[in-house]
Amino acid sequence: MNVPEIFGSLVFNDKTMQKALKPETYKAFKAVAENGGTLSKACADEIACAMKTWAVERGATHYTHWFQPMTGITAEKHDSFIAPDENAAGGAIMQFSGKQLIQGEPDASSFPSGGLRSTFEARGYTAWDTSGCAFIKDGTLCIPTAFISYGGQVLDKKTPLLRSMSALKSRVLRFLTLIGKSAKSIGITAGVEQEYFLIDKKLFDKRKDLISCGRTLLGARPVKGQELEDHYFGTIRPRVLAYMQELDAELWKLGILAKTRHNEAAPAQHELAPIHTEVSTAADHNQLTMEFMKKVADRHGLACLLHEKPFAGVNGSGKHNNWSLTADGENLLEPGKNPENNLPFLLLLAAVLRAADEHQDLLRLCTATAGNDHRLGSGEAPPAILSVYLGSELTDILENMCAGKCYQRKKAERIVLGNATPVPEFLQDTADRNRTSPLAFTGNKFEFRMLGASVNVAEPNVMLNAAVADALEYICARLEKEGADETSVKKLIAELYTRHKRIVFNGNNYSADWIEEANRRGLLNLAATPDALPYGTNEKNAALMERLGVYSLRELESRREILTENYCKVISIEALTLLSMTVKEVLPASFYYQNELCTVIEQKAELDVSAEAEKALLKKIAALSDKAYKRKIALEKALEKAKCEKSLHAASKAFYGVAFTYMHNLRECCDALETLVSKKHWPFPTYSELLFSV
Ligand code: ADP
Ligand code: MG
Repeated sequence: MNVPEIFGSLVFNDKTMQKALKPETYKAFKAVAENGGTLSKACADEIACAMKTWAVERGATHYTHWFQPMTGITAEKHDSFIAPDENAAGGAIMQFSGKQLIQGEPDASSFPSGGLRSTFEARGYTAWDTSGCAFIKDGTLCIPTAFISYGGQVLDKKTPLLRSMSALKSRVLRFLTLIGKSAKSIGITAGVEQEYFLIDKKLFDKRKDLISCGRTLLGARPVKGQELEDHYFGTIRPRVLAYMQELDAELWKLGILAKTRHNEAAPAQHELAPIHTEVSTAADHNQLTMEFMKKVADRHGLACLLHEKPFAGVNGSGKHNNWSLTADGENLLEPGKNPENNLPFLLLLAAVLRAADEHQDLLRLCTATAGNDHRLGSGEAPPAILSVYLGSELTDILENMCAGKCYQRKKAERIVLGNATPVPEFLQDTADRNRTSPLAFTGNKFEFRMLGASVNVAEPNVMLNAAVADALEYICARLEKEGADETSVKKLIAELYTRHKRIVFNGNNYSADWIEEANRRGLLNLAATPDALPYGTNEKNAALMERLGVYSLRELESRREILTENYCKVISIEALTLLSMTVKEVLPASFYYQNELCTVIEQKAELDVSAEAEKALLKKIAALSDKAYKRKIALEKALEKAKCEKSLHAASKAFYGVAFTYMHNLRECCDALETLVSKKHWPFPTYSELLFSV
């Protein structure tokens, strides 16, 4: 495979565009892409025609406006390029106009809008987002677009991200100017590490829970899970490797910089990480990556699970969002050799601390979903409490600055491997890593680790951008007032660190002690999604988002409604699936087996042969089945009650109880039955079979 040759071959990128257009058209396009405004009809037509010619040459027959509605996945409605040929009756030509490129008008009524429009007001618009390149997927030219309502309110995940990027970039520029640095262009970079599970498709198809919910709702713990820690970075098995190779190739064709692949901690779990890019591109690319992970799996007789917690008792899947800022391509979070003297860096670091401390709620709520509730805080992922890891060196530097002391750099230790002479010596890093931190500074970027595997990364980046923009606004005002000389800047860094250092935690975020300590520090602990979502519309956050031009209050309210409703619906579907599996599969399996045991016991009695084992087993299974049946009724009642709650917020709280009390209780009985009922009768594949199927 010639990778450089196939890389980006399905993308109408800047180079292709420049080659295909008249210089003045390309210039006009760039001006609009960078500064906004309108594109003349003639320019738009020329670009559309060039895109179509390029796409048709590569086998495309259709085009679509590709967008990211609030469903969390992407949307597309294909239209072919064909038009009647006016010069040859009965014939057809391939046509694509500037108008079709720039604006679409899908019926928006079936997408979640959170009250932004009623069903009868069906009109919505998709508008070309020139920050993303058009690409070909399955013979269709996909044009990245923003999705908005007839009234101009956002209905998608992408538009707020673009808005937050503008808000942050303008503040970074102001900040740089104030500290005496100039920059032509500011970048916000993101690199998204994606975890996933692969299981055999035939086994997947036998489980209603995986089909309807993307996760198992039942399943006794396997005898071997991840205890031996022998999967992480283990040799990749041939079937998985073949999958990864095809996936990489598909992503490369789409211009996605797929870089790292490895086995993850849990059996059947893997990770893919691309090289970071501008955050809006990274968000598009991550959506495409998830789509292709599923699609390519299907071709290999596999099922790819992107749920946050597909299996109880083994690690779930997350997404690490690495984030940084650049000025003319230079990473602003690069500490350099002597970070203690790098005041712009330290001030920016202090800005992130302020952002994280003041906006713990926003950073928490953008990771809150029904799936992620099973993962956060259960000893495999960061807790629901936001904190920042700085590492010992940076913490020491900031502490010294506060105490007015000079920082004494520790000499980097040389790592020598005893008598292993063939291994060359090397220098130790100045700080260790911390895998448990929700927001960790990892050398020259922040790694936001609370995200669940299936989330669209647009929203978490909106929150990071907005929070940092807010902190920079504050810092800029201070610099304007107090000056930006060395003494003032040092004073400001020390003040910010002192005020916000409660958010810094370099220890083990998984420990129970930390929860207590965080509580003493007054940090927010929004354990579950229903606790977190209301923060999205409070006065502080509404004012912030309005001021930054990211969301209007109405848009925030609509989002809160959509997310809360989605949370309730997900749990309702899960509860109904669990009930159905219990009644139609688990209990019948238990009854058939009991029946078989009864027959054996009767026959043995006639022959006067002991049947102690059968009787003991029968009693246990009968008792568990009765218990399961009672818990099934309790779950049904709880579900009905949750559905009748008057407010959405109350309903979400009730649904939390449905999931974590009633479903949990029923599952307990079913899982116990699984360990007793014969293999012949058990109706679906077990954890051992699923986790070691590939
Ligand atoms: P690890 O698993 O150790 O965290 P990986 O190499 O798997 O590390 O992933 C690191 C991710 O961070 C990659 O996607 C990488 O591109 C990204 N990254 C590196 N530097 C930056 C940066 N300046 N801004 C954003 N992301 C970055
Ligand atoms: Mg990582």
